[in-house]
Amino acid sequence: MATNLRIGHGYDVHALDEGRPLILCGTEVPHEKGCIAHSDGDVAAHALADALLGAAALGDIGLHFPDTSAEFRGADSLMLLRRVVDMLSSRGYHTVNADITIVMQRPKLRPFIDDMRARLASVLDIGIDRISVKATTEERLGFTGSEKGVAAHAVALIESE
Ligand code: MG
Repeated sequence: MATNLRIGHGYDVHALDEGRPLILCGTEVPHEKGCIAHSDGDVAAHALADALLGAAALGDIGLHFPDTSAEFRGADSLMLLRRVVDMLSSRGYHTVNADITIVMQRPKLRPFIDDMRARLASVLDIGIDRISVKATTEERLGFTGSEKGVAAHAVALIESE
């Protein structure tokens, strides 16, 4: 049986501001700043959604969930991710694995990584061993280093039979 493998990449950035919740991969991380966004600002979920859409050549989350739409104001980004997964599964695709890198100076994300992986694995309906979430800093350089914003990168491999 022929297997159709496709890879996708996603990248997202949100600015940080005081007094907002910091939601990453569906996990609320205690911090004095959170992402400014139309949705809940889950920059990592957005990068993953774009990687999945990119793998299927289905555009990007801005196309499917416009930030001008009242429907998506304050939206739970895992719900948006679920809708992306449904779009792919309706075309016969499931996720093989995904790897996400979150770039921010503070706080340390290590204590939250396994919870993030479990939440994403549940939405993608795959084993936690197929979801990687990593965190790094940019050594106090640039907008992440100055804590003005958060960046997230994602790659995802999808497969259809
Ligand atoms: Mg975004």
